[in-house]
Amino acid sequence: MNIFRQKKSLGQHFLLDPNLLRKIVKLAEILPDEHVWEIGPGKGTLTRELLKTGCRLTLFEIDRELVQYLHDMLPPEVTVIQGDVLKSDWQKLFPETKIKIVSNLPFQISTPLLFRLAQASPAFSRIVLMLQKELAQRIRATAGTADYGLLSLKMQYYFSIKYAFTVKKHLFKPPPRVDAAVLVLHPRVDSPILTDPDFFWSIVTATFGNRRKILGNNLKKFLSLAQLRELGRRAPEILVRRAETLTEMEFVHLVEQIRRITGLDSPEDR
Ligand code: SAM
Repeated sequence: MNIFRQKKSLGQHFLLDPNLLRKIVKLAEILPDEHVWEIGPGKGTLTRELLKTGCRLTLFEIDRELVQYLHDMLPPEVTVIQGDVLKSDWQKLFPETKIKIVSNLPFQISTPLLFRLAQASPAFSRIVLMLQKELAQRIRATAGTADYGLLSLKMQYYFSIKYAFTVKKHLFKPPPRVDAAVLVLHPRVDSPILTDPDFFWSIVTATFGNRRKILGNNLKKFLSLAQLRELGRRAPEILVRRAETLTEMEFVHLVEQIRRITGLDSPEDR
């Protein structure tokens, strides 16, 4: 008997297939005693599979009813944090060692959560995520394709990303609208070094501001006319392109030029 009221607004699509659950956990290559976070444990089917690895488990679940159920069902050493994972203070929860995340993500918080994972990437050693297939494709998209955007660039800057497999929607209960996919993320060690990451990402975000506009127009908020002219002189071909055609290295060079033009990169800083 199902005693829960399934809440669609919380993205509650549960996984029951034991083979699939095993396959997901295997991707995480968890060692006994490793710290693992599961976001949105739901009724705990993936949780139980995770516990078999002997890991130390922290769960984030927003639904009070499910939290009560998880408390009753799971061994006391499992930490269950009730609330919105996006609002919880991760910094306070980070152990001294790196964390692995394994999650069948609620679709409605996937994008903001991905941006947060990117920001905190050094805290993790591996992340295994089930997401909507379309979102997985956007994350992996390459420059110049329709799916490419700020999310692709940011996720690919902070992580190397492997597409593990597709999961058909009928394997969930209740089935969602679209198929899902499982991605494996590893924090990247070879990303180009950014002199000022906050400045870099604010420029990049601005360039993606209006997808129909060319880069020169999207940068008007940041640069004076004289600065834009100077940028046009130094990198004439780039200003007439749209942000979604630029690769990671092209963005790095663009922002370097902007730092020089705006005086942020003074000779003493070099
Ligand atoms: N892991 C379970 C499974 O695979 O069967 C459930 C996955 S279900 C797709 C997503 C879960 O995330 C639900 O249990 C939902 O209540 C929970 N959830 C939704 N929004 C959340 C949030 N902001 N913070 C934490 N948990 C959330």
